[in-house]
Amino acid sequence: MSKFEKNENATLEELFPVTELESLIVMASTSADDYLSYGTPDARDRFLQISGEIDKAFVTILNTSNDTPEKTALLFVAQKAWQQAKISSQAIFTNSHLARTKFTAQEKKRLDVQLEQATEALDRLQELLTHLQISDNVAQARNTKLWVKAIVVVVFGLGLGVAAIASLTLARSVLIPLQILAEGVKHLAEEDLSYRIVLTNQDELGQLATMFNQMAEKLEQSQTALRNLATLDGLTGVFNRREFNQKLKTEIERSHRYMHPCSLIMLDIDYFKKLNDTHGHQGGDKALKVVAEIVKREIRPVDVVARYGGEEFAVILPETLNDSAAIVAERLRHAVAVEAIAISLELSIHVTVSVGHATFPIDAILEEKLLGAADKALYAAKHSGRNRVVSYNSLQQTVEQAG
Ligand code: GH3
Ligand code: MG
Ligand code: MG
Repeated sequence: MSKFEKNENATLEELFPVTELESLIVMASTSADDYLSYGTPDARDRFLQISGEIDKAFVTILNTSNDTPEKTALLFVAQKAWQQAKISSQAIFTNSHLARTKFTAQEKKRLDVQLEQATEALDRLQELLTHLQISDNVAQARNTKLWVKAIVVVVFGLGLGVAAIASLTLARSVLIPLQILAEGVKHLAEEDLSYRIVLTNQDELGQLATMFNQMAEKLEQSQTALRNLATLDGLTGVFNRREFNQKLKTEIERSHRYMHPCSLIMLDIDYFKKLNDTHGHQGGDKALKVVAEIVKREIRPVDVVARYGGEEFAVILPETLNDSAAIVAERLRHAVAVEAIAISLELSIHVTVSVGHATFPIDAILEEKLLGAADKALYAAKHSGRNRVVSYNSLQQTVEQAG
């Protein structure tokens, strides 16, 4: 049974005796009327019987109702009016003279007024009970509405919470790793092969990241190998002539822009053909490797060394004036000359180099001219006896002096 139904039943239980009481009072009034109209003792007896029932009904209602002060007050008004009505009725019924005397008519009028007061009070009581029931129902409805509202809010909140947790879990486990993978692919597409994906997932996405990293590693290795193949000399490991030309171009442009000096050294192994002839091509290769090592060892990290021809090397010295270049050139010549080159387990030999150098911008502005100037100085070193250093600048001065 719903709360509404329970309340309604309780109200009906209270209303019913009040309605019954009211109809008893009406019946009492009718009995008094009958007695006055017909003078039958039946009517009097009926009145007395009803009167007893009315008294009992008042007692029962007062005892059983769960009263509010308003209800009790109305019941008392009705009871008091009934008590007075009983007194008035005695005057009517004890009068054996049944004629409609003025006295009895007056008593009957008083009785009617009192009975009406009693029924009026009972009417108001019924109204009050009904009203209380209605406001109780409204309160119930309001309460229920609040509950429903609260339940809706809680369920909606829970739903939102579940949705938020679900999307967070989805983001953590799938979306974020996918984003990280996509970032890796983006780097790969931009040819950034050194990029590695950091993903700790133990699932398929983690496996994908590992595979991606392995693939990037392989690509990076083969790209490095290809780049080396294209830019380095296979025998000595220094830059090849093509890469050298590129670097010289860049360096001269830079020196031009900032008006900084830049020197160029060319060195050539002396009588190399004879070395090949004496110790074989492998002996010659060994000597080439060692000379390249010596040159690398004797220059700064910013300097660039390349194999320019068969047994000819070139070195770019950025930010270097002619005098400094002369010092470097002499250091190289000396270092090669003193190095014992082991061409086999039993045999070590010595080789010498002839060196020419020129400087931007005092000797030449354009890179081809600078190369030509250094080459001329090298040629002069060869012709003046080999194993020596010649500066293009000093060569020019000699020519000028001779001229
Ligand atoms: P010079 O003192 O005038 O420079 O005489 P040279 O013998 O050094 O010069 P030449 O130009 O006559 O001979 C250079 C030789 O270098 C000829 C060539 O066979 C040899 N050569 C060039 N490249 C290589 C190489 O990679 N390995 C070996 N072993 N020899 C090479
Ligand atoms: Mg030579
Ligand atoms: Mg040569």
